[in-house]
Amino acid sequence: METMTLNAAPQWRFSGEQGKANYERALREYPAQAIVDLAALRDNMRHLVEVCGGSGSGTAVMGVVKADAYGHGLIPSALAALAGGATWLGTAQAREALLLRKAGIGLDRCRILTWMYSGPTAPLDELIANDIDVSVGSLDGIELVAAAARATGRTAFIHVKVDSGFGRNGFTEMNFPDAVARLAPLAKEGLVRVVGQWSHLAVADAPDVPEFVAATDQQIENFNAFTELMKQAGIAPQIRHLANTAATLDRPEIRFELTRPGIGLYGYEPDPATGTPDPAMGTPSKYRLRPAMTLQAQLGTVKDVQAGHGISYGRTYLTGERTSTAIVPIGYADGIHRSASGFDVEGAQHVDKPGGPVRVMTVDGPRVLHVSGRVCMDQFVLDLCGSAAELGVHEGDTVMLFGPGRGEAYGEPTADDWARAAGTISYEVFTCLRGRIPRLYLNAREVLSEDDLRLLDPASIL
Ligand SMILES: *Cc1c(COP(=O)(O)O)cnc(C)c1O
Repeated sequence: METMTLNAAPQWRFSGEQGKANYERALREYPAQAIVDLAALRDNMRHLVEVCGGSGSGTAVMGVVKADAYGHGLIPSALAALAGGATWLGTAQAREALLLRKAGIGLDRCRILTWMYSGPTAPLDELIANDIDVSVGSLDGIELVAAAARATGRTAFIHVKVDSGFGRNGFTEMNFPDAVARLAPLAKEGLVRVVGQWSHLAVADAPDVPEFVAATDQQIENFNAFTELMKQAGIAPQIRHLANTAATLDRPEIRFELTRPGIGLYGYEPDPATGTPDPAMGTPSKYRLRPAMTLQAQLGTVKDVQAGHGISYGRTYLTGERTSTAIVPIGYADGIHRSASGFDVEGAQHVDKPGGPVRVMTVDGPRVLHVSGRVCMDQFVLDLCGSAAELGVHEGDTVMLFGPGRGEAYGEPTADDWARAAGTISYEVFTCLRGRIPRLYLNAREVLSEDDLRLLDPASIL
């Protein structure tokens, strides 16, 4: 039986009958879906590679696919990044680097760098055996990597992490002399090869804030000073890398031999430090990046309620007049931030705090409505601000939380709009989305080779 439902998400183009069947199965499996366009991921990577001067430029590009590729799915996203010209992949956790190799993405396809590991339980031997480069940023780390290289009988490929001012990982100017003194003989012995020198930037995403530009300039100066010390010790790095997405786009002078864009691959700009509705980095289209993920859901109960009806826990939202409400069947247990709740009262106080935006299709065209009241564990409520019958909104309609659009102001909410509503950044919006929301892949057949397609869950291909 075909029921008439309205759809506020894009009309998906399936690769064929199987893709359509996969889509329908996913809707039965769960009332929300994350749809990832692999062509967008590939094209974003292509663009980042071009920005860096193309494949012959001497600047390679690493697709940063940490945290399950920012929630987009590790293997499909990694393969799309490679299809777009990435020659490196990067993950924070060793586990994810190993998953890439175990999936069959070999050294012939790309180099892989990983940078999070802790003490003697770290699987450094396994990383070395799987041709994965490891970061070294502590004196203990040097000894662990050297021991693992000795145990495996292979050279460890290392990237020396320096703290140029980020204050997180890496050697400081205080312990760097000891580090190079230890690394030089290990390199001579062939236990380690010093592939890279690297560091991370703190405020590259705020090109319009003079003190932040100055802080980045200082980080670059410090980074170059570390390079000099390595040269003097006879362990000059083959490649240097410092640039995240923001610096890749805005700081051509520090692309060096490798850049490490993450968020840009997924089609977003890094959030400005201010988080204002007018991002300093501009809209995605300014940088010719396309958001790859759409989060859509099918409405639960749609009903009419009286004026003054309290919505959800805490009665933080009261309907202004007679209206209709609709349930969106995902909540904070799916990674929808509770801080994206929408309030109009707090205690007895009036508070005008719109919740996260949702694009709903009506018979009069699309409308952006907002989370009304508190986000619950498995659901939240939308005030439709009108009669569902008149709007033509029904249970089962597909609504869009965010997608490939230009922003809420255009009726096309993005993850940046959700980030703003929740007081966070798009990175956290993506990475919080739980595994129980099916990830489905568009344009997989267009982007990936037959061999690569086999690495995907067949049920995830649209
Ligand atoms: C996450 C990360 C990146 C990518 O940063 P984006 O802002 O997403 O481009 C690069 N380098 C390191 C060390 C990271 O942790």
